[in-house]
Amino acid sequence: MNHNDCIFCKIINGNIPSAKVYEDDHVYAFLDISQVSKGHTLIIPKIHTKNIYETPPEIAKELFAKVPIIANALKEAYNPIGMNVLNNNEAPAGQSVFHLHIHLLPKYSESEGFSVNWKTHEDKYSATDLQQIAEKINEAIKN
Ligand code: 5GP
Ligand code: ZN
Repeated sequence: MNHNDCIFCKIINGNIPSAKVYEDDHVYAFLDISQVSKGHTLIIPKIHTKNIYETPPEIAKELFAKVPIIANALKEAYNPIGMNVLNNNEAPAGQSVFHLHIHLLPKYSESEGFSVNWKTHEDKYSATDLQQIAEKINEAIKN
């Protein structure tokens, strides 16, 4: 199922040109136009899903199975010193195209590529707090 006004569906259909990296029955991978670093690649499911929340496990299985394969190909091709794998969900988290996509962001030097800016709060959570949080999330898992 493709969405008429989705740019990534148009890329899959060939209605918008792209630099294709890989394609099979379930997955399409192509260079991100912004090229945060050389080889910056997007991996998307051919079936339109808005983001990770709306993605059925079978689609996720096909999509994520290709992530290490394409990451290793990118590593072999351009020999980065590291690689960030990123998926943004909803606008506040940086999602700007609402068709699920996984970014592969090769890192060539400290100043090139994606920068991780973790704010750590280890001192603010006791072991009991962590246990309670984990249980709350676990209870929300729908099998
Ligand atoms: P998001 O911000 O949703 O995680 O990532 C969307 C990405 O899609 C951005 O990095 C942006 O550069 C890329 N993008 C948007 N439009 C196009 C396009 O028409 N062609 C390609 N190749 N990439 C696009
Ligand atoms: Zn789409």
